[in-house]
Order: sequence, then structure tokens, then C-alpha cells
Amino acid sequence: MEIASGVDEVELLGARGYVILEDRLTLIDAGLPGSRLRLARHLGRIGRSLAELERIICTHAHPDHVGGVRELASDGVEVLMHPADIARVQVSLGEAVRRPSRGRLFAFVTPTPARLTPVADGEVLPVLGGLEVIHTPGHTPGSICLYAPRERLLFVGDVLEARRGRVTFASPFFSDDVRMARASVQRLAALNVETIVFGHYPPLRHDARGVLEGLAAQAADGRGGASRWRR
Ligand SMILES: [Zn+2]
Ligand SMILES: [Zn+2]
Repeated sequence: MEIASGVDEVELLGARGYVILEDRLTLIDAGLPGSRLRLARHLGRIGRSLAELERIICTHAHPDHVGGVRELASDGVEVLMHPADIARVQVSLGEAVRRPSRGRLFAFVTPTPARLTPVADGEVLPVLGGLEVIHTPGHTPGSICLYAPRERLLFVGDVLEARRGRVTFASPFFSDDVRMARASVQRLAALNVETIVFGHYPPLRHDARGVLEGLAAQAADGRGGASRWRR
């Protein structure tokens, strides 16, 4: 499904991936292991191929977003991730057991991609006329959002959810630091966003800025809940 001009959603295993169709291809999030076939099929249908894949940007290092990286990252494919999450995909079993947390155990079972390039807050990637990296820690320490001002798209990974018509903060169950995750959302309200693109839910096109501003206001005064939006 096309979510914007030259941006297709691909239903990968365990998560939604987004492929940006330029001279070369960029994939945002790689799904669980086994997702390669789904991406290859999608590209085949539109006359493109995996051989054109230039880079994979991971919004964070949970298995449903990085699990498919290893099988997709052949020679020359760059895999980008925030350094705080690179550290965690390289966590050892010893560390996972010594200092157990859901996140560390998760990290240990995630296969480590071969070669990872760190991306920093504020970095602008050469995709969609300039794709800005926004570090929004909390769901994981290295969670990032990706903002394309030209298309007014904001890819949020798991930093936001959209359950039953309500946009909410990251899942408390799967997040490392819920308070930090909420505080991170405050930065997003300043962006000129038309469409919010989620890791697990259909894109939100209605009043995206209002939704972000509502969540930011809640985060600022410490309330938890959700921001309502109409379909
Ligand atoms: Zn996820
Ligand atoms: Zn996640």
C-alpha cells in the first residue's frame, strides 16, 4: 500500500516495514526473521528488486524491527541504528542474566546484524529530500523517529501506538522507561506533521499535529492516557 508518493507500506512478519522507492531503495524497519520473502514479493510486484536495497533504518532494536536485518543485509547494504540500541543488540547472555530486564532478554534473543552504522539525533539522511533523525528514548534507549519535512511524514516506530482509534504513548509493558518515553513525545509536537506512520498500525492522517500536541501536553503535566482522534 502506498502511504505517500514513493513510500510503500509492506506487511512484514511481526511489524510494518516501509520501503522508500528512489533510484535506490531504503527500508524502514525489517520485521522478524523471515520477512525477506515478503519484501522481495512486494518489490517484484512493482518491478523493483532486493538488489536495489541501499540501506535499512531501524527505529529501534526490538526483534520485530531488526529481526529481518541479517537476511536482508548482504554486501553493501548499510544498516542504521541509534548507538544506544546498537549497544543493546550486542548484549551478552551473561549480561542479560546478571542484570535481567525484559529489554535485555529481548535483546539477547535478537540476532545481531553484521554491520551497523550509528545515527545521531539531528542527522539528516539522504532520503525523501532529507529525512531527519529524532532521538526519542524510552521505549528503548535508542528509539528514533524519522521526520520527512517535504512529505510531512513522521515515522514513529513503537514510540506511539494507535489502538482502537486512540493514539497513545508507547506500550508500558514493552518499554524500558515509560516516563522517558512520554517525555520524548514532547519534541514531536513542534514538527509540521501531516501523517503519523506507526510500526504496527495504519497511518494517521487526521489532525496529526493536534494529536501530537495533545500527547505532548499530557506528557508535560504528567498525565498518562491517550489522545482522541476521529476517523
Ligand atoms: Zn514493534
Ligand atoms: Zn518495540
